[in-house]
Amino acid sequence: MQAELLRWYDRSARALPWRRAPRDPYLTWVVETMSQQTRIDTVVVRLPGFLQRFPDVERLAAAEEGEVLAAWSGLGYYRRARALHAAARVVAHDLGGRWPSDVAGWLRLPGVGPYTAAAVAAQAFGVATIAVDGNVRRVGARLLGLPEPTDDEVRRALAERLLGRGAGSAAAEATRGLAGAADEGASARVAEALVELGATVCTPRRPRCDDCPLRRGCAAAAAGDPTRFPAPRRRARVQPLALHAWWVTRTDADGNERLGLERRPTDGLWGGLHGPPWRGEAPGDGRRLATFRHLLTHRRVEAVVWRTPTPPADAEVAWYRRDEALALGLAQIDRRALAALDEAER
Ligand code: SF4
Repeated sequence: MQAELLRWYDRSARALPWRRAPRDPYLTWVVETMSQQTRIDTVVVRLPGFLQRFPDVERLAAAEEGEVLAAWSGLGYYRRARALHAAARVVAHDLGGRWPSDVAGWLRLPGVGPYTAAAVAAQAFGVATIAVDGNVRRVGARLLGLPEPTDDEVRRALAERLLGRGAGSAAAEATRGLAGAADEGASARVAEALVELGATVCTPRRPRCDDCPLRRGCAAAAAGDPTRFPAPRRRARVQPLALHAWWVTRTDADGNERLGLERRPTDGLWGGLHGPPWRGEAPGDGRRLATFRHLLTHRRVEAVVWRTPTPPADAEVAWYRRDEALALGLAQIDRRALAALDEAER
């Protein structure tokens, strides 16, 4: 099964720029973090700029958090950027610049979850393990013919079939390159090939079983209706949230318009980013400029944009020219609010 999967991977994998051997741990970790909840074509476009600004873990660790958030601007899920920054500091300062080389070591870094830990350990260090994301969970559920397998069941079953007996266990995951260089390379490629297979062949609605290298051992394909696996997960309800943007501007001594922006607390929505104050209430003396709907994973923001002479009483605003504000890295909702301000002033 492994040989068929790797032959398919060599023939059919998308030519993504980071897929070259040997794998650099820093590059692999940044790619895996950026790829979570972000489309792969967006990662291809945004990755070079991030790496140009932070080419290695030392440079990332030495940056201010605001610089990292600015480089992440527009990618959303900013906690990923804050976690990258915090973990870079641990590697650079506490671990003396040495990367963990097993799954347990990666899991100890801030913000690194089971998928990322396994993906980096497999790809950059040849650890014999399987990284289970949504794509691999689907492939595993179908191969096994199980409607609701746990991630651990999927990881162990796939490791046993594709990496050999004992692979995927804690002992194997603590051991780098289990059986020499050839197997080390195979482990790295198997982990990535499964993600690729789930993304391009074993897709949620239209799996292309005729093109699949795992078809011979697939229980769901044999049963005739692979889309029954895995059983659909119950979606969390999307909560509506009414928010009002308070735009306050002033003109500086050089005649430049400056925007009043606050830096948000790190533990809330768009945490750590600069933007206009957003509040649950409208300003009493404001002029309404626009409304729009902004979708987040579990929230539907009904946004109202106001121009108002004074910021909210609890806001600590600082004043920025437009170019300075944009360089800070505004969240997408702030860019939309700024576009509404521009539109109203045209
Ligand atoms: S045979 Fe079909 S259902 Fe099974 S893993 Fe391949 S694409 Fe998915």
